[in-house]
Amino acid sequence: LAKANGKNQWKRYEEATHAALLRRMQIRVDLDEALRTGAFLLEYQPVIDLKTGVTAGFEALVRWHHPSRGTIAPAEFIDVAEESGLIVPLGEWILNRAIAEAASWAKASATPPYVGVNVSARQLRQPGFVDTVLTSLRRHGLAPDRLVIEITESLLLTDQGNGWSDLRTLREAGVRVAIDDFGTGYSSLSYLRQVPADILKIERSFIGNTPHSDKQRALVDGIVRLATTLDLAVVAEGIEQPAERDVLAKVGCRYGQGYLFSPPLDSDSATRWLQRDWIPA
Ligand code: C2E
Ligand code: MG
Ligand code: MG
Ligand code: MG
Repeated sequence: LAKANGKNQWKRYEEATHAALLRRMQIRVDLDEALRTGAFLLEYQPVIDLKTGVTAGFEALVRWHHPSRGTIAPAEFIDVAEESGLIVPLGEWILNRAIAEAASWAKASATPPYVGVNVSARQLRQPGFVDTVLTSLRRHGLAPDRLVIEITESLLLTDQGNGWSDLRTLREAGVRVAIDDFGTGYSSLSYLRQVPADILKIERSFIGNTPHSDKQRALVDGIVRLATTLDLAVVAEGIEQPAERDVLAKVGCRYGQGYLFSPPLDSDSATRWLQRDWIPA
């Protein structure tokens, strides 16, 4: 019986793996088509200055409107796009779209928000990445310091040789770099001292327990102090509760992002969000 059971489980496992594989293959085929037909769009999630309540920037987050499956989240297709190399043209589209959007915000505001763009490993390693970024900034007339390139901590850790020099070049041009999902990649202190970055984004999973756990609060407090010592601005990701915002503000975290303030917004809603922002409270 045990043997039969094991066999069934194996069969179920095989079926599930097979289904997952098929799904990925289908996504890969559909991605090609989506890129040609323009089925992607960006949403923008406000990043709030916890001291003043002002919107410091927006993070651009890609969405895929699939003809038959509705909206597909980036978690489902970014790594497929990485594997197939499609991330390169897709990433370029994202970068250009985000920069164009930020340029339109800049025209309407004295203190324009920045736009944060997520960049994946393959994109960063692509020869000509620096050029693509700088050309797009020039073409849209966006000040380089209104662009933040978000790179995950784990990618920065594994990519010291290649990507770091491109990031340094971009920073010399005024573009800022954020370490995304900090806390998940086991950075050493010496690494943090050298990494070419301006902003540190604390991963969402560190934020949720801060109001209820002394240890968690101490940990986040430590991260904020360390970052501040290293001249990194800190953004807390995934703030959902007022109590979380209060704890973070108290330990000196300057910026926050999360559903408490706003979910990611479509382009029009982001513009409206800014207009509301400019009316003095
Ligand atoms: P990320 O860069 O860490 O983005 C933050 C994610 O957290 C977003 O998910 C956002 O919608 C979600 N989020 C924001 N506030 C809250 C909150 O209060 N609670 C919860 N539970 N979640 C919150 P999203 O849009 O599904 O993106 C997931 C990941 O996909 C991103 O993580 C990023 O790594 C990647 N991604 C998104 N857009 C792009 C892109 O344009 N290019 C690349 N290469 N990767 C992207
Ligand atoms: Mg990000
Ligand atoms: Mg993140
Ligand atoms: Mg994340």
